[in-house]
Amino acid sequence: MMNIMNMVNRLPHPLKQPFKYIYGTIHPSIRLSKTFWETYNFLQKSQWWSREKLEEYQIEQLSKLLHHAYTNVPYYRRVFDEKGLKPKDIQDFGDLRKLPYVTKEIVRDNLPDLVARNYPQSKLQYVTTGGSTGIPLGFYREKGISGAKEWAFMLTQWNRVGFKIGDRCVVLRGNVVRSANSGKFWEYHPISKNLVVSSYHLSDETLPKYVDKIREFKPDYIQAYPSAITILARFMRANNIAPFPSVKALLCGSENLYPWQRELLEEVFQCRVFSWYGLSEMAALAGECEKSTYYHVFPEYGILELIGNDGSPVIDEDNMGEIVATGLNNFACPLIRYRTGDLALPEYSSCECGRNYPLLKRVEGRLQEFVVANDGSFITLGPAIFSIHHAEWTKIKQIQFLQETPGELIVQVVKAASYSEAEIKDYVLGLFKARFEGRCELEVRFVDHIPRTQSGKYRFLNQKLPIEFGD
Ligand SMILES: [Zn+2]
Repeated sequence: MMNIMNMVNRLPHPLKQPFKYIYGTIHPSIRLSKTFWETYNFLQKSQWWSREKLEEYQIEQLSKLLHHAYTNVPYYRRVFDEKGLKPKDIQDFGDLRKLPYVTKEIVRDNLPDLVARNYPQSKLQYVTTGGSTGIPLGFYREKGISGAKEWAFMLTQWNRVGFKIGDRCVVLRGNVVRSANSGKFWEYHPISKNLVVSSYHLSDETLPKYVDKIREFKPDYIQAYPSAITILARFMRANNIAPFPSVKALLCGSENLYPWQRELLEEVFQCRVFSWYGLSEMAALAGECEKSTYYHVFPEYGILELIGNDGSPVIDEDNMGEIVATGLNNFACPLIRYRTGDLALPEYSSCECGRNYPLLKRVEGRLQEFVVANDGSFITLGPAIFSIHHAEWTKIKQIQFLQETPGELIVQVVKAASYSEAEIKDYVLGLFKARFEGRCELEVRFVDHIPRTQSGKYRFLNQKLPIEFGD
Protein backbone atom coordinates (compact mmCIF):
# COMPACT_ATOMS: atom_id res chain seq x y z
CA MET A 1 0.00 0.00 0.00
CA MET A 2 2.78 2.38 0.90
CA ASN A 3 4.50 1.76 -2.40
CA ILE A 4 1.44 2.76 -4.32
CA MET A 5 1.06 5.91 -2.26
CA ASN A 6 4.70 6.84 -2.82
CA MET A 7 4.37 6.23 -6.51
CA VAL A 8 1.24 8.37 -6.76
CA ASN A 9 2.89 11.10 -4.72
CA ARG A 10 5.64 11.42 -7.28
CA LEU A 11 3.27 11.92 -10.18
CA PRO A 12 3.19 15.44 -11.65
CA HIS A 13 0.29 17.61 -10.46
CA PRO A 14 -2.63 15.27 -11.07
CA LEU A 15 -4.71 17.35 -8.68
CA LYS A 16 -4.85 20.27 -11.07
CA GLN A 17 -7.09 18.39 -13.43
CA PRO A 18 -10.79 19.02 -12.96
CA PHE A 19 -12.46 16.19 -11.13
CA LYS A 20 -14.34 14.06 -13.54
CA TYR A 21 -16.04 10.98 -12.32
CA ILE A 22 -15.75 8.01 -14.65
CA TYR A 23 -16.01 4.44 -13.57
CA GLY A 24 -12.95 2.59 -14.65
CA THR A 25 -10.37 5.09 -13.58
CA ILE A 26 -9.43 5.55 -9.96
CA HIS A 27 -8.38 9.13 -10.22
CA PRO A 28 -5.15 9.98 -8.37
CA SER A 29 -6.94 12.56 -6.24
CA ILE A 30 -8.99 9.66 -4.94
CA ARG A 31 -6.05 7.36 -4.41
CA LEU A 32 -4.40 10.07 -2.34
CA SER A 33 -7.40 10.90 -0.25
CA LYS A 34 -7.74 10.13 3.41
CA THR A 35 -11.42 9.29 2.96
CA PHE A 36 -10.58 6.62 0.41
CA TRP A 37 -8.12 4.79 2.67
CA GLU A 38 -10.22 5.24 5.81
CA THR A 39 -13.23 3.71 4.09
CA TYR A 40 -11.17 0.97 2.51
CA ASN A 41 -9.49 0.03 5.79
CA PHE A 42 -12.83 0.06 7.58
CA LEU A 43 -14.32 -2.31 4.99
CA GLN A 44 -11.44 -4.75 5.39
CA LYS A 45 -12.71 -5.31 8.92
CA SER A 46 -16.44 -4.77 8.63
CA GLN A 47 -16.92 -7.25 5.81
CA TRP A 48 -16.26 -10.04 8.34
CA TRP A 49 -18.57 -8.70 11.06
CA SER A 50 -21.51 -10.73 12.35
CA ARG A 51 -24.97 -9.98 11.06
CA GLU A 52 -25.88 -8.43 14.44
CA LYS A 53 -22.90 -6.12 14.39
CA LEU A 54 -23.61 -5.05 10.80
CA GLU A 55 -27.23 -4.28 11.64
CA GLU A 56 -26.21 -2.38 14.71
CA TYR A 57 -23.88 -0.31 12.52
CA GLN A 58 -26.64 0.34 9.98
CA ILE A 59 -29.09 1.48 12.65
CA GLU A 60 -26.50 3.82 14.09
CA GLN A 61 -25.76 5.32 10.64
CA LEU A 62 -29.45 5.52 9.83
CA SER A 63 -30.10 7.45 13.00
CA LYS A 64 -27.36 9.95 12.09
CA LEU A 65 -28.75 10.25 8.57
CA LEU A 66 -32.32 10.84 9.74
CA HIS A 67 -31.33 13.49 12.30
CA HIS A 68 -29.26 15.21 9.64
CA ALA A 69 -32.05 15.01 7.06
CA TYR A 70 -34.62 16.34 9.51
CA THR A 71 -32.39 19.22 10.60
CA ASN A 72 -30.78 20.20 7.31
CA VAL A 73 -32.78 18.93 4.35
CA PRO A 74 -35.99 20.88 3.66
CA TYR A 75 -37.66 18.08 1.70
CA TYR A 76 -37.35 15.58 4.54
CA ARG A 77 -38.30 18.13 7.19
CA ARG A 78 -41.55 18.60 5.28
CA VAL A 79 -42.13 14.84 4.97
CA PHE A 80 -41.50 14.25 8.69
CA ASP A 81 -43.80 17.12 9.65
CA GLU A 82 -46.57 15.97 7.34
CA LYS A 83 -46.45 12.50 8.89
CA GLY A 84 -46.18 13.88 12.42
CA LEU A 85 -42.86 12.06 12.84
CA LYS A 86 -39.57 12.88 14.49
CA PRO A 87 -36.29 11.08 13.73
CA LYS A 88 -36.48 9.33 17.11
CA ASP A 89 -39.68 7.59 15.97
CA ILE A 90 -37.57 5.52 13.63
CA GLN A 91 -35.60 3.03 15.70
CA ASP A 92 -35.36 0.00 13.42
CA PHE A 93 -35.79 -1.19 9.84
CA GLY A 94 -39.52 -1.76 10.38
CA ASP A 95 -39.96 1.84 11.52
CA LEU A 96 -38.23 3.03 8.38
CA ARG A 97 -41.35 2.03 6.47
CA LYS A 98 -43.22 4.86 8.18
CA LEU A 99 -41.45 7.15 5.73
CA PRO A 100 -42.74 7.41 2.15
CA TYR A 101 -40.66 6.40 -0.86
CA VAL A 102 -38.55 8.85 -2.76
CA THR A 103 -39.18 8.30 -6.46
CA LYS A 104 -37.11 9.52 -9.40
CA GLU A 105 -39.88 12.03 -10.14
CA ILE A 106 -39.60 13.39 -6.61
CA VAL A 107 -35.85 13.83 -7.06
CA ARG A 108 -36.39 15.54 -10.39
CA ASP A 109 -39.06 17.92 -9.03
CA ASN A 110 -37.51 18.68 -5.62
CA LEU A 111 -33.77 18.63 -6.17
CA PRO A 112 -32.97 22.02 -4.56
CA ASP A 113 -34.88 20.96 -1.43
CA LEU A 114 -33.07 17.62 -1.26
CA VAL A 115 -29.70 19.28 -0.80
CA ALA A 116 -28.51 19.62 2.80
CA ARG A 117 -28.41 23.28 3.87
CA ASN A 118 -25.19 22.77 5.81
CA TYR A 119 -23.28 21.87 2.64
CA PRO A 120 -22.00 24.96 0.80
CA GLN A 121 -22.22 24.99 -2.99
CA SER A 122 -18.44 24.54 -3.17
CA LYS A 123 -18.76 21.10 -1.59
CA LEU A 124 -21.36 19.86 -4.03
CA GLN A 125 -20.72 17.92 -7.17
CA TYR A 126 -23.57 17.75 -9.66
CA VAL A 127 -23.89 14.33 -11.25
CA THR A 128 -26.35 12.98 -13.76
CA THR A 129 -27.16 9.37 -14.28
CA GLY A 130 -28.22 7.86 -17.59
CA GLY A 131 -31.59 7.18 -15.99
CA SER A 132 -33.10 3.82 -16.86
CA THR A 133 -36.15 5.50 -18.36
CA GLY A 134 -33.99 7.43 -20.78
CA ILE A 135 -34.51 10.73 -19.01
CA PRO A 136 -31.31 11.80 -17.26
CA LEU A 137 -31.64 12.28 -13.53
CA GLY A 138 -29.52 14.88 -11.76
CA PHE A 139 -28.50 14.88 -8.11
CA TYR A 140 -25.60 15.94 -5.91
CA ARG A 141 -22.71 14.14 -4.35
CA GLU A 142 -20.15 15.45 -1.89
CA LYS A 143 -17.20 16.78 -3.82
CA GLY A 144 -13.98 14.91 -3.10
CA ILE A 145 -15.69 12.59 -0.62
CA SER A 146 -18.40 10.62 -2.42
CA GLY A 147 -16.15 9.43 -5.20
CA ALA A 148 -13.46 8.38 -2.73
CA LYS A 149 -15.92 6.36 -0.68
CA GLU A 150 -17.43 4.82 -3.79
CA TRP A 151 -14.05 3.65 -5.01
CA ALA A 152 -13.14 2.20 -1.63
CA PHE A 153 -16.22 0.00 -1.93
CA MET A 154 -15.52 -0.87 -5.57
CA LEU A 155 -11.93 -1.80 -4.85
CA THR A 156 -13.04 -3.95 -1.90
CA GLN A 157 -15.38 -5.83 -4.23
CA TRP A 158 -12.86 -6.27 -7.00
CA ASN A 159 -10.26 -7.47 -4.46
CA ARG A 160 -12.40 -10.61 -4.24
CA VAL A 161 -11.22 -11.64 -7.69
CA GLY A 162 -7.69 -10.45 -7.10
CA PHE A 163 -7.83 -6.90 -8.49
CA LYS A 164 -5.30 -4.46 -7.02
CA ILE A 165 -4.72 -0.74 -7.61
CA GLY A 166 -2.20 -0.43 -10.43
CA ASP A 167 -3.37 -3.53 -12.31
CA ARG A 168 -3.64 -3.04 -16.04
CA CYS A 169 -7.22 -2.75 -17.22
CA VAL A 170 -9.01 -2.54 -20.49
CA VAL A 171 -12.12 -0.43 -20.00
CA LEU A 172 -14.96 -1.20 -22.41
CA ARG A 173 -17.74 0.89 -20.94
CA GLY A 174 -19.56 4.02 -22.03
CA ASN A 175 -16.47 6.22 -22.15
CA VAL A 176 -16.12 8.41 -25.21
CA VAL A 177 -12.76 8.01 -26.94
CA ARG A 178 -12.09 11.24 -28.78
CA SER A 179 -9.80 9.76 -31.41
CA ALA A 180 -12.27 6.96 -32.30
CA ASN A 181 -13.83 8.83 -35.20
CA SER A 182 -10.46 9.07 -36.86
CA GLY A 183 -9.87 5.35 -36.53
CA LYS A 184 -8.02 5.04 -33.21
CA PHE A 185 -10.52 3.31 -30.97
CA TRP A 186 -8.59 3.47 -27.70
CA GLU A 187 -6.83 5.86 -25.41
CA TYR A 188 -4.16 4.91 -22.90
CA HIS A 189 -4.32 6.54 -19.46
CA PRO A 190 -0.82 6.11 -18.06
CA ILE A 191 -1.67 7.12 -14.50
CA SER A 192 -4.38 4.53 -14.04
CA LYS A 193 -2.76 2.07 -16.47
CA ASN A 194 -6.08 1.77 -18.21
CA LEU A 195 -6.64 1.28 -21.91
CA VAL A 196 -10.01 2.89 -22.46
CA VAL A 197 -11.61 1.52 -25.61
CA SER A 198 -14.68 2.83 -27.40
CA SER A 199 -17.86 0.79 -27.02
CA TYR A 200 -19.53 2.81 -29.80
CA HIS A 201 -17.44 1.50 -32.68
CA LEU A 202 -17.63 -2.29 -32.35
CA SER A 203 -18.16 -3.84 -35.78
CA ASP A 204 -16.85 -6.76 -37.81
CA GLU A 205 -14.48 -4.36 -39.55
CA THR A 206 -13.02 -2.79 -36.41
CA LEU A 207 -13.04 -5.77 -34.04
CA PRO A 208 -9.83 -7.38 -35.40
CA LYS A 209 -8.04 -4.14 -34.42
CA TYR A 210 -9.54 -4.23 -30.94
CA VAL A 211 -8.43 -7.86 -30.50
CA ASP A 212 -4.86 -7.08 -31.60
CA LYS A 213 -4.63 -4.02 -29.41
CA ILE A 214 -5.94 -5.82 -26.31
CA ARG A 215 -3.58 -8.73 -26.89
CA GLU A 216 -0.64 -6.38 -27.23
CA PHE A 217 -1.70 -4.43 -24.11
CA LYS A 218 -1.78 -7.59 -21.91
CA PRO A 219 -4.44 -6.43 -19.45
CA ASP A 220 -4.90 -8.06 -16.04
CA TYR A 221 -8.63 -7.28 -16.09
CA ILE A 222 -11.30 -6.11 -18.48
CA GLN A 223 -13.97 -3.79 -17.12
CA ALA A 224 -16.98 -3.89 -19.37
CA TYR A 225 -20.64 -3.33 -19.98
CA PRO A 226 -21.98 -6.86 -20.51
CA SER A 227 -23.56 -5.88 -23.83
CA ALA A 228 -20.31 -4.47 -25.21
CA ILE A 229 -18.09 -7.35 -24.16
CA THR A 230 -20.71 -9.75 -25.55
CA ILE A 231 -20.21 -8.26 -29.01
CA LEU A 232 -16.46 -8.79 -28.71
CA ALA A 233 -16.96 -12.34 -27.38
CA ARG A 234 -19.29 -13.34 -30.21
CA PHE A 235 -16.82 -12.05 -32.74
CA MET A 236 -13.98 -13.97 -31.09
CA ARG A 237 -15.99 -17.17 -30.97
CA ALA A 238 -17.17 -16.88 -34.58
CA ASN A 239 -13.58 -16.40 -35.73
CA ASN A 240 -11.96 -18.94 -33.40
CA ILE A 241 -9.87 -16.28 -31.73
CA ALA A 242 -7.93 -17.47 -28.68
CA PRO A 243 -8.55 -15.82 -25.27
CA PHE A 244 -6.18 -13.24 -23.78
CA PRO A 245 -4.03 -15.26 -21.38
CA SER A 246 -3.17 -12.29 -19.16
CA VAL A 247 -6.79 -11.57 -18.21
CA LYS A 248 -7.71 -12.82 -14.73
CA ALA A 249 -11.34 -11.75 -14.67
CA LEU A 250 -13.96 -9.68 -16.45
CA LEU A 251 -15.49 -7.00 -14.24
CA CYS A 252 -19.02 -6.45 -15.45
CA GLY A 253 -21.51 -3.90 -14.21
CA SER A 254 -24.16 -1.27 -14.93
CA GLU A 255 -26.37 -3.54 -17.03
CA ASN A 256 -28.06 -6.88 -16.47
CA LEU A 257 -25.74 -9.81 -16.96
CA TYR A 258 -27.75 -12.69 -18.38
CA PRO A 259 -26.77 -16.32 -17.77
CA TRP A 260 -26.17 -16.89 -21.49
CA GLN A 261 -23.83 -13.92 -21.53
CA ARG A 262 -21.90 -15.28 -18.58
CA GLU A 263 -21.66 -18.70 -20.28
CA LEU A 264 -20.45 -17.15 -23.52
CA LEU A 265 -17.95 -14.87 -21.79
CA GLU A 266 -16.51 -17.67 -19.66
CA GLU A 267 -16.20 -19.89 -22.71
CA VAL A 268 -14.48 -17.29 -24.87
CA PHE A 269 -12.28 -15.58 -22.28
CA GLN A 270 -11.61 -18.66 -20.14
CA CYS A 271 -11.74 -16.67 -16.91
CA ARG A 272 -14.03 -15.62 -14.11
CA VAL A 273 -16.86 -13.20 -14.89
CA PHE A 274 -17.45 -10.94 -11.89
CA SER A 275 -20.62 -8.89 -11.83
CA TRP A 276 -21.79 -6.08 -9.59
CA TYR A 277 -24.85 -3.90 -9.21
CA GLY A 278 -24.60 -0.24 -8.32
CA LEU A 279 -26.26 3.11 -8.73
CA SER A 280 -24.54 6.42 -9.23
CA GLU A 281 -27.18 7.79 -6.83
CA MET A 282 -25.06 6.13 -4.10
CA ALA A 283 -27.91 4.25 -2.48
CA ALA A 284 -27.06 0.58 -3.09
CA LEU A 285 -24.05 -1.47 -4.08
CA ALA A 286 -23.74 -5.24 -4.35
CA GLY A 287 -21.30 -7.61 -5.96
CA GLU A 288 -20.34 -11.23 -6.31
CA CYS A 289 -17.63 -12.84 -4.20
CA GLU A 290 -14.75 -15.26 -4.64
CA LYS A 291 -17.06 -18.21 -3.88
CA SER A 292 -20.39 -17.50 -5.54
CA THR A 293 -22.29 -15.47 -8.08
CA TYR A 294 -24.77 -14.14 -5.52
CA TYR A 295 -24.76 -10.37 -5.23
CA HIS A 296 -23.52 -9.47 -1.74
CA VAL A 297 -25.23 -6.25 -0.67
CA PHE A 298 -22.89 -3.89 1.21
CA PRO A 299 -24.68 -3.06 4.48
CA GLU A 300 -22.09 -0.33 5.09
CA TYR A 301 -23.17 1.38 1.87
CA GLY A 302 -26.92 1.42 2.25
CA ILE A 303 -30.05 -0.20 3.59
CA LEU A 304 -31.79 -2.26 0.98
CA GLU A 305 -35.46 -3.26 0.95
CA LEU A 306 -37.16 -5.45 -1.62
CA ILE A 307 -40.73 -4.35 -2.19
CA GLY A 308 -43.23 -6.61 -3.94
CA ASN A 309 -46.01 -5.84 -6.34
CA ASP A 310 -48.45 -5.14 -3.50
CA GLY A 311 -46.12 -2.69 -1.77
CA SER A 312 -45.16 -5.05 1.08
CA PRO A 313 -41.67 -6.47 1.66
CA VAL A 314 -40.72 -9.59 -0.28
CA ILE A 315 -40.17 -12.42 2.20
CA ASP A 316 -39.63 -15.49 0.05
CA GLU A 317 -37.10 -16.57 -2.53
CA ASP A 318 -39.60 -17.06 -5.33
CA ASN A 319 -40.68 -13.47 -5.71
CA MET A 320 -38.87 -10.56 -7.20
CA GLY A 321 -39.08 -7.20 -5.54
CA GLU A 322 -38.17 -3.68 -6.50
CA ILE A 323 -34.97 -2.49 -4.86
CA VAL A 324 -35.71 0.39 -2.50
CA ALA A 325 -32.52 1.79 -1.06
CA THR A 326 -31.40 4.21 1.63
CA GLY A 327 -27.86 5.43 1.05
CA LEU A 328 -25.73 5.84 4.16
CA ASN A 329 -22.83 7.67 2.56
CA ASN A 330 -24.14 10.75 0.81
CA PHE A 331 -25.21 13.32 3.37
CA ALA A 332 -25.04 16.13 0.80
CA CYS A 333 -28.18 14.92 -0.95
CA PRO A 334 -29.61 12.06 1.07
CA LEU A 335 -31.82 9.46 -0.57
CA ILE A 336 -34.05 7.75 1.96
CA ARG A 337 -36.21 4.85 0.71
CA TYR A 338 -35.31 5.61 -2.88
CA ARG A 339 -37.19 3.56 -5.47
CA THR A 340 -34.54 2.41 -7.89
CA GLY A 341 -36.79 0.87 -10.53
CA ASP A 342 -34.58 -2.23 -10.47
CA LEU A 343 -35.84 -5.70 -9.61
CA ALA A 344 -34.07 -8.42 -7.68
CA LEU A 345 -34.63 -11.89 -6.33
CA PRO A 346 -33.51 -12.43 -2.72
CA GLU A 347 -31.37 -15.33 -1.52
CA TYR A 348 -31.64 -16.37 2.11
CA SER A 349 -28.92 -18.99 2.38
CA SER A 350 -25.51 -17.93 3.63
CA CYS A 351 -22.50 -17.78 1.38
CA GLU A 352 -19.44 -19.98 1.80
CA CYS A 353 -17.18 -16.92 1.78
CA GLY A 354 -18.23 -16.17 5.35
CA ARG A 355 -19.53 -12.63 4.83
CA ASN A 356 -22.80 -12.01 6.62
CA TYR A 357 -24.11 -9.65 3.97
CA PRO A 358 -27.67 -9.82 2.62
CA LEU A 359 -27.66 -11.70 -0.69
CA LEU A 360 -29.50 -11.32 -3.97
CA LYS A 361 -29.74 -14.35 -6.20
CA ARG A 362 -29.96 -12.10 -9.19
CA VAL A 363 -30.74 -8.61 -10.28
CA GLU A 364 -33.04 -8.86 -13.21
CA GLY A 365 -35.09 -6.74 -15.51
CA ARG A 366 -34.97 -3.08 -14.93
CA LEU A 367 -38.54 -1.86 -14.81
CA GLN A 368 -38.39 -0.65 -18.36
CA GLU A 369 -37.94 -4.27 -19.40
CA PHE A 370 -41.65 -4.87 -19.09
CA VAL A 371 -43.81 -5.32 -22.13
CA VAL A 372 -47.40 -4.07 -21.99
CA ALA A 373 -49.86 -6.73 -23.17
CA ASN A 374 -53.06 -6.02 -25.13
CA ASP A 375 -55.10 -6.09 -21.88
CA GLY A 376 -52.73 -3.62 -20.18
CA SER A 377 -51.02 -6.28 -18.04
CA PHE A 378 -47.24 -6.62 -17.93
CA ILE A 379 -45.07 -9.36 -19.37
CA THR A 380 -41.49 -9.40 -18.12
CA LEU A 381 -39.05 -9.53 -20.97
CA GLY A 382 -36.21 -10.70 -18.71
CA PRO A 383 -37.11 -14.42 -18.65
CA ALA A 384 -37.43 -14.54 -22.44
CA ILE A 385 -33.87 -13.28 -22.70
CA PHE A 386 -32.70 -15.28 -19.69
CA SER A 387 -33.91 -18.58 -21.13
CA ILE A 388 -32.04 -18.43 -24.42
CA HIS A 389 -28.99 -20.63 -24.67
CA HIS A 390 -25.96 -18.73 -25.87
CA ALA A 391 -25.37 -21.16 -28.73
CA GLU A 392 -28.62 -19.90 -30.26
CA TRP A 393 -27.21 -16.45 -30.79
CA THR A 394 -25.17 -17.37 -33.86
CA LYS A 395 -27.87 -16.40 -36.35
CA ILE A 396 -28.54 -13.00 -34.90
CA LYS A 397 -25.92 -10.44 -34.08
CA GLN A 398 -28.04 -8.05 -32.10
CA ILE A 399 -31.61 -7.75 -31.07
CA GLN A 400 -33.75 -5.09 -29.52
CA PHE A 401 -37.44 -5.02 -28.74
CA LEU A 402 -39.31 -1.82 -29.36
CA GLN A 403 -42.74 -1.08 -27.94
CA GLU A 404 -44.80 1.93 -28.92
CA THR A 405 -48.32 0.49 -28.63
CA PRO A 406 -49.78 -1.83 -25.95
CA GLY A 407 -50.09 -5.39 -27.27
CA GLU A 408 -47.57 -4.81 -30.08
CA LEU A 409 -43.89 -5.56 -29.95
CA ILE A 410 -41.39 -4.89 -32.72
CA VAL A 411 -38.35 -7.15 -32.71
CA GLN A 412 -35.47 -5.28 -34.34
CA VAL A 413 -32.81 -7.67 -35.54
CA VAL A 414 -29.31 -7.30 -36.91
CA LYS A 415 -28.89 -10.65 -38.62
CA ALA A 416 -25.77 -12.61 -39.46
CA ALA A 417 -24.98 -12.15 -43.17
CA SER A 418 -25.14 -15.85 -44.05
CA TYR A 419 -28.84 -16.20 -43.27
CA SER A 420 -31.84 -15.00 -45.25
CA GLU A 421 -34.40 -12.62 -43.80
CA ALA A 422 -37.17 -15.22 -44.09
CA GLU A 423 -35.11 -17.77 -42.23
CA ILE A 424 -34.26 -15.38 -39.41
CA LYS A 425 -37.83 -14.16 -39.17
CA ASP A 426 -39.14 -17.68 -38.55
CA TYR A 427 -36.32 -18.34 -36.16
CA VAL A 428 -36.91 -15.20 -34.07
CA LEU A 429 -40.67 -15.70 -33.94
CA GLY A 430 -40.04 -19.29 -32.82
CA LEU A 431 -37.84 -18.11 -29.99
CA PHE A 432 -40.29 -15.66 -28.50
CA LYS A 433 -43.76 -16.73 -29.67
CA ALA A 434 -44.67 -18.89 -26.68
CA ARG A 435 -44.03 -16.09 -24.21
CA PHE A 436 -46.19 -13.51 -25.96
CA GLU A 437 -48.87 -15.64 -27.67
CA GLY A 438 -52.36 -14.18 -27.41
CA ARG A 439 -51.15 -11.19 -25.40
CA CYS A 440 -48.83 -9.36 -27.71
CA GLU A 441 -48.32 -9.35 -31.49
CA LEU A 442 -44.73 -9.74 -32.66
CA GLU A 443 -43.32 -8.07 -35.74
CA VAL A 444 -39.77 -8.68 -36.95
CA ARG A 445 -37.94 -5.74 -38.48
CA PHE A 446 -34.40 -5.91 -39.89
CA VAL A 447 -31.98 -3.10 -39.07
CA ASP A 448 -28.29 -2.43 -39.73
CA HIS A 449 -27.38 -1.57 -36.20
CA ILE A 450 -28.93 -0.89 -32.83
CA PRO A 451 -28.05 2.42 -31.23
CA ARG A 452 -26.80 2.65 -27.68
CA THR A 453 -28.17 5.01 -25.08
CA GLN A 454 -26.41 8.28 -24.38
CA SER A 455 -24.31 6.67 -21.66
CA GLY A 456 -23.25 3.95 -24.09
CA LYS A 457 -25.43 1.28 -22.52
CA TYR A 458 -27.50 -1.14 -24.44
CA ARG A 459 -31.11 -1.96 -23.75
CA PHE A 460 -32.94 -5.08 -24.84
CA LEU A 461 -36.21 -3.23 -24.70
CA ASN A 462 -36.75 0.25 -25.95
CA GLN A 463 -39.96 0.86 -24.03
CA LYS A 464 -41.76 3.98 -25.19
CA LEU A 465 -44.81 3.42 -22.98
CA PRO A 466 -44.92 4.68 -19.38
CA ILE A 467 -44.55 1.83 -16.85
CA GLU A 468 -45.58 2.01 -13.20
CA PHE A 469 -45.07 -0.83 -10.78
CA GLY A 470 -46.13 -1.55 -7.20
CA ASP A 471 -48.54 1.34 -6.69
ZN1 LIG B 1 -19.81 -14.92 -0.69
